[in-house]
Amino acid sequence: MTDLTRGLPQYLADKHQLADGESFTFTCHPGVPCFNNCCADVNIVLTPLDVLQLARHTGLHTQVFLDTYTSNPITKDLQLPMVMLKMLDDDKKRCPFVGEQGCTVYRNRPWACRMYPLGMALPPARAGVEPEPIFFVFEDDHCKGRHQDEAVDWTAAKWRADQHLVERDEIEIGFRDLVSHPWFIGGRQLDPKRMHMLYTACYNLDTFREFVFESTFLERFELDEDLIEDIKTNDIALLKFAFLWLRFALFKEPTVKVREGAAERSVQ
Ligand code: SF4
Ligand code: SF4
Repeated sequence: MTDLTRGLPQYLADKHQLADGESFTFTCHPGVPCFNNCCADVNIVLTPLDVLQLARHTGLHTQVFLDTYTSNPITKDLQLPMVMLKMLDDDKKRCPFVGEQGCTVYRNRPWACRMYPLGMALPPARAGVEPEPIFFVFEDDHCKGRHQDEAVDWTAAKWRADQHLVERDEIEIGFRDLVSHPWFIGGRQLDPKRMHMLYTACYNLDTFREFVFESTFLERFELDEDLIEDIKTNDIALLKFAFLWLRFALFKEPTVKVREGAAERSVQ
């Protein structure tokens, strides 16, 4: 197995890296002795689709959802905005969505909750190389899922299919293209204005929709009528368009067409 672990985030550095096709044993259901133990005091990074689905689940505008349920840790070497699910301020630091019977947003639970006990990392961007994800198994003591008699063998591929991660990742493939973009090679960082642009378009989709339809955006960019109708009413279509537009706005790729004579301006 190639050693791809150099440069990994700290939380994955000492985890067991799965070889291609290697299996792991696991089960999780309300009968396990640790049921709900993992839904407290945990770092959950939200993806753009997580934020969108949880905002829709809670019936909140994406801005209100972000303000209420998320935090944005800042570190000096941060290359991209990070959106974390904020735990409650109680003695156990429980997830705001955990209930007696388990996850109350199960249908829309975040990517990281679906992945557990797997972790995933993308190797650093390299020009001309499509990054292949690598998978890890968390073997946390508090999680008894791998020691149950009824636990079954999974490969990363089988687990991801079972948790509907494959179709979710297809929706977010444009996000993966952004975060692993060759522009970031060598540790380059976006300036605060571009960071904000990326944050808004990826995570605050209702505000991005307002920007598209209530500013001069459509006078400045030439979009097909069908696409305009689609992004007006379909969240997933808008999210995919946001990923595409960001490649133009951040990296000057010709992913959207500027109208002739239109001045190039950016989301504020
Ligand atoms: S979102 Fe659901 S599965 Fe994820 S930590 Fe919260 S309660 Fe648990
Ligand atoms: S700790 Fe592990 S087995 Fe227990 S509820 Fe959480 S994921 Fe399931």
